[in-house]
Amino acid sequence: MSRSLDDFARRKLDALAARNLTRRVRTTARGPGARATRGEARMIAFCDNDYLGLSQHPDVIAAAAAATQKYGAGAGASRLVTGSGPLYEALEARLARLKGTEAACVFGSGYLANIGIIPAFAGPRDLILGDALMHACMHAGAKLAGAPTYLFRHNDVADCERLLRAHRAGAGTCLILTEGVFSMDGDRAPVAELVDLAHRFDAWLLVDDAHAFGVIGGGRGSGIGVDGRPLGVDLAMGTLSKAVGAYGGYVAASRAVTDYLVNRARSLIFTTGLPPGVLAAAGTALRLIEEDMSLTAAPLARARAFTSALGLPQAESAVVPLVLGDEARALAASAALEERGFLVAAIRPPTVPAGTSRLRFTFSAAHSEDDVASLIAAVRALGLVPETQPA
Ligand SMILES: *Cc1c(COP(=O)(O)O)cnc(C)c1O
Repeated sequence: MSRSLDDFARRKLDALAARNLTRRVRTTARGPGARATRGEARMIAFCDNDYLGLSQHPDVIAAAAAATQKYGAGAGASRLVTGSGPLYEALEARLARLKGTEAACVFGSGYLANIGIIPAFAGPRDLILGDALMHACMHAGAKLAGAPTYLFRHNDVADCERLLRAHRAGAGTCLILTEGVFSMDGDRAPVAELVDLAHRFDAWLLVDDAHAFGVIGGGRGSGIGVDGRPLGVDLAMGTLSKAVGAYGGYVAASRAVTDYLVNRARSLIFTTGLPPGVLAAAGTALRLIEEDMSLTAAPLARARAFTSALGLPQAESAVVPLVLGDEARALAASAALEERGFLVAAIRPPTVPAGTSRLRFTFSAAHSEDDVASLIAAVRALGLVPETQPA
């Protein structure tokens, strides 16, 4: 083994430590009711993305177990060989129905979906415009595409239009990338306005609904109008690993688009299909989302109880940021909450811009009202929200 490799890694780690940016994995056992244990410590988790608690739902678990018994533990091959098992078709049909599109295509994960879809529709002669706060995997997709890429100010449709006026004319295709609910800020994109803008400039809109699906729009995510009809998002992508509680990614779109992706999305072609148990879990979770509106309303209701009690801006989704600024402060706040039995992640650069390190609270249908009340009391007691600092 190379000594210089270790030295390299150590030097990089020391530099991260000096800036309070070290990350490490911590073994966490999750259970029902948003409960989690780390070693001996039992805590309530307010940081995962299991917004509906479906990863722990008995029907979802039973479906995964039954499918594993019936079809085996793994898919055995890529989807284009023998890895597209019998559970894919029903899952894709259900996704298309929920999103109001002609078709849907399931990928190995949300990350794999974005790094496959984006390069399939844009190349070096084309154009990509992305929201300044879009997720890392959309940046990765844009890089793989090799298209000139410009970022517009967060949720600023006028700024996106300015970039279209400046750069659209000479380009072939044009993709606009955004998130239905922003993962680290919890606010929502102006999807209807972006659909309209995209149409006017012959651009195609991709909305990443990782944190919107299952939580807003009656569980159907963003891109659904008040009348329940789809707004016309060209590429409605999302993940099956957050509110759906399983694993995998998807895009809901026209049949032509999904047929094309099967031919051109490298992250679908050159990777193994999802395990049958995962597909069954996702299918059952989607049924629960479709059937139970009260389930999908719960995360936002819990988040709003939290923001209104603490005088924070009203939650727009299940994600509530509390920006503290510097990394050490965010880490200390997270550690203090953990001591009181609450798991709340400190989010630092490069996940968020420098100077905006924060606590990221997430709310789930799995939380009881008492869970939320005890979190509110802890946040107050620690003086994390200025207005509620103890005397
Ligand atoms: C989590 C996330 C992804 C990745 O989804 P996975 O299924 O976990 O790979 C993509 N986009 C956004 C905005 C996310 O938050």
